[in-house]
Amino acid sequence: MDQATVKKLVKDNGVEFIIVQFVDVLGNLKHLELPISQLDKVLDGDIMFDGSSILGFASIENSDMYLKPDLSTFAVLPWSGGKEARIICDVYTGDQKPFAGDPRSVLKRALEKAKTLGFEGLNVGPEPEFFLFPLDEKGEPVFTPHDGIGYFDAGARDKGQKVRQDITRTLQALGFEVEALHHEVAIGQHEVDFKFGDALLTADRIATFKWVVKEIAAQHGFYASFMPKPIARINGSGMHVHQSLYTTQGNAFYDANDELGLSANARHYIAGILAHAQAFAAVTNPTINSYKRLVPGYEAPCYIAWSCSNRSALIRIPAARKAATRIEVRCPDPMANPYLALALMLVSGLDGIEKKLPLVPEVKENIYHMSDSIRAEYGIEALPADLNEALNNLAQDEVLKNALGTHLYESYMSLKKAEWDEYRLEVHPWELKQYN
Ligand code: GLU
Ligand code: MG
Ligand code: MG
Repeated sequence: MDQATVKKLVKDNGVEFIIVQFVDVLGNLKHLELPISQLDKVLDGDIMFDGSSILGFASIENSDMYLKPDLSTFAVLPWSGGKEARIICDVYTGDQKPFAGDPRSVLKRALEKAKTLGFEGLNVGPEPEFFLFPLDEKGEPVFTPHDGIGYFDAGARDKGQKVRQDITRTLQALGFEVEALHHEVAIGQHEVDFKFGDALLTADRIATFKWVVKEIAAQHGFYASFMPKPIARINGSGMHVHQSLYTTQGNAFYDANDELGLSANARHYIAGILAHAQAFAAVTNPTINSYKRLVPGYEAPCYIAWSCSNRSALIRIPAARKAATRIEVRCPDPMANPYLALALMLVSGLDGIEKKLPLVPEVKENIYHMSDSIRAEYGIEALPADLNEALNNLAQDEVLKNALGTHLYESYMSLKKAEWDEYRLEVHPWELKQYN
């Protein structure tokens, strides 16, 4: 999309406000709204803001920042009756350089790295799950599920159907191709799947998706939560990420001559993901609560292994081959900053390719049911048990630290360490029950 097309769309729709968006270090979408009279300034990248007030961005001394619009992300917002439009922006420093603390720049750098290794890009298909919760009389969420039904259940008890349909309509109006919408396994849990696309587009879409889901849920009197494990002892919400590298020749993960139909690049990529998972978990599973999802028995992975069918493994290889050959990484959850999560998985896979890391054999058995000694015999290691372990692993991983860059690594780490320290001050009801 060029400037003239944006201006025409603005005029044709009678847009009154333009919202410029970017994400902070944790992936929260930030909005600055301008009257449409300021459109030229937006399009020329002349909008300035105070970076020191954004989580994990610049210091007070060096806080002037610019927003440079990515015109391909321009969209008129369907729920505004054509009155509002948005553009996602890259963040630049006061001296007009890409800002190293901007998560979008980290993904762009990771994609550049893929290019230097001969890949055109990464196709990504995410599956973000979420819960809908009712609101109390003050409009605050009540964390008891809004229904009592499960996977693919339908009918009058499915109070989320209309919400999922409205989410779908809105996403479609924003250019998403929605593939399926359904009730998920847990009570009150839902999924709306959209078609895979290029990594940067998909990261923008994940950020947009979470915004849309919350907006539409609110319109229906619900609170949408992307918390990974809002309710103990039932399934949590994951965000499986299907991924495949491609070259100018097509899918780089397919090899018709291989017994599993997987190329050497696919095998090394998987090996790279397995090698770095204990560290990238700090980003793909970014909260204290994330690790309450990564326990046996709830379709979420807890062990580092790969398999063609087995859903207890970290990586599953869906049956489709040829152009659809891909891997599904099952640990990420929807609280992850999508730009950083995709960047770190990509860089991990590329590291496997660069170093030609050998791939361990596939694990066909259900790993949840293996004893510790059998797992040790197979050499299957566990994902981190908590956020602190994941952060310590990240601190040891030079490949991933490099990919994040010093600014982002340090700001992410200090925010997350502070979160962990804050959590340690709390006494949980379970402890009182157990140790009184
Ligand atoms: N909710 C499961 C998880 O935590 C995933 C269920 C599914 O396979 O879609 O990852
Ligand atoms: Mg699902
Ligand atoms: Mg899946």
